[in-house]
Amino acid sequence: MLSAAQLATLAQLGEERAADVGDLLFRVGDQQYPFIAIIEGEVAILDGAGHEIIRHRTSGFLGEMNLLTGQTVFLTAVVTQRLRYIAVDRDVLRSLLFEDGPLSDLLLSTFIARREALQGVQGIGLEIVGPRSSAGTMRMVEFARSNRLPFSWHDTERSDDEAAAALLAGLDVAALPLVRLPGGVELHGPSTGQVSRALGIGRELAAREEVDLVVVGAGPAGLAAAVYGASEGLETLVVESSALGGQAGTSRRIENYLGFPAGISGSELTSRAVTQARKFRARTATPYRALSLEPVDGRYVVRLEEDHEIAARSVLLATGAQYRRLPVDQLSDYEGMSVFYAAGPPEAQLCGAARVGVVGGGNSAGQAAVWLARGGALVTLLHRRANLREIAALHGADGQLESVTLKSGKRLPFSFLFLFLGASPCTDWLGDAVARDDKGFILTGAAAGADTMLETSLPGVFAAGDVRSGSTKRCATAVGEGAMAVQFVHGRLAEHSRPQPAPIS
Ligand SMILES: Cc1cc2nc3c(=O)[nH]c(=O)nc-3n(C[C@H](O)[C@H](O)[C@H](O)COP(=O)(O)OP(=O)(O)OC[C@H]3O[C@@H](n4cnc5c(N)ncnc54)[C@H](O)[C@@H]3O)c2cc1C
Repeated sequence: MLSAAQLATLAQLGEERAADVGDLLFRVGDQQYPFIAIIEGEVAILDGAGHEIIRHRTSGFLGEMNLLTGQTVFLTAVVTQRLRYIAVDRDVLRSLLFEDGPLSDLLLSTFIARREALQGVQGIGLEIVGPRSSAGTMRMVEFARSNRLPFSWHDTERSDDEAAAALLAGLDVAALPLVRLPGGVELHGPSTGQVSRALGIGRELAAREEVDLVVVGAGPAGLAAAVYGASEGLETLVVESSALGGQAGTSRRIENYLGFPAGISGSELTSRAVTQARKFRARTATPYRALSLEPVDGRYVVRLEEDHEIAARSVLLATGAQYRRLPVDQLSDYEGMSVFYAAGPPEAQLCGAARVGVVGGGNSAGQAAVWLARGGALVTLLHRRANLREIAALHGADGQLESVTLKSGKRLPFSFLFLFLGASPCTDWLGDAVARDDKGFILTGAAAGADTMLETSLPGVFAAGDVRSGSTKRCATAVGEGAMAVQFVHGRLAEHSRPQPAPIS
């Protein structure tokens, strides 16, 4: 609920309007809508099929994450009791959020909670129709998941949904999946970039851009660099191949990030970081995958998918790593709640004396097993040599694991599962451009023969976060390194622009 003082602030910036019962304030498929604060009356929110989801009343407000990101409207708002309301233009609201801390906290956390709730409701947002055996379909499903878009997937291979199967009849595999946007527009076999832009999420880059600093990867390291770079006067562009937020954005709860004693969800932490980066006018471009890096005429050129290229005076590589995951359904429902990729004190405390499975054969799996057992947990170590794909299914509810089933049919009553299947750095795209260690992580500092700590073997190209050889795989470290890299960028740019001594004749 908005306080009387907050309504007064909004009234100064917006426009007071009235609407009658039955009036539509916005509808599914609209390109955008203003922020709406209710002075008096009632509004019902409906999905595309007209089912009611919730009602908002006096002092309530309408909207969810798409108000800030600019995505196409997923829902319809219809007046159910005569309404007096304040409409605030989206850009005005964004500026206000940068200035008014308490209002920003209230709106951001509500918008994020609403988005999470919408993700659990069928029939809202994107409709993806395609079989799981089609790579294009799986890419689209992953894209929707990682961008936290509400979506429904009709897997024509697993369901007997005849209507969905009929939609695909006669279609070539290249035309899969069929994607229906809010509002009804249908796309056949679209790229994630096309869907992203059709939804109004990703910004369109010019074929060639020139900036001071290009940051590749928008996880915590890249976003921290964006905040510090842009706020310190560097023209900063962040390119991201998938979803802003990186691995951290997928974490259900980050318990050890400084300043959040009760923990914070990964999506909230990274949504806040994105808002902060934009406040300082850092530009974020998604989904654009970096394909190569090379020095050209005293600058670096990062080439992206779809024939885009960015020329920059300095580059930060923050492409992170991908933890190997178990190929089982519903894994993401448990991640961060009862399935983890690290075992520290918070996890040991959380597990207490519960039954825990630790999967993996490396040092980290062994250490985790000892650590958790010391905390009182009853640990079963599932050795790597025993085929990992033995785990066939996870069972539980609301993110809390209750048991796992092995392919043999045996059921093990685990309340928590720890996965140590290794992580591979996202560096293949770099080829030989920068020196890497034997696992592919980027060497920096003395190990790369560089002058400064985070600099790679290419002067003016830095690396931060999980992608860096020897880094601690934690959010806080990634953020710290991203921030620190910007200091080195300043140093490098200052050196570069210093007048060179005249040649001796
Ligand atoms: C489920 C889960 C839970 C976690 N929980 C915690 C926790 O509680 N506490 C904690 O401290 N840490 C936690 N971590 C670890 C933490 O999230 C990472 O250490 C952190 O996100 C690393 O940040 P980063 O910016 O270096 O890389 P990432 O977060 O990996 O971000 C890298 C980004 O680069 C993008 N990218 C990759 N290749 C390209 C390319 N070629 N072009 C453009 N973009 C590209 C990726 O899509 C990604 O968005 C967790 C990780 C996971 C997976």
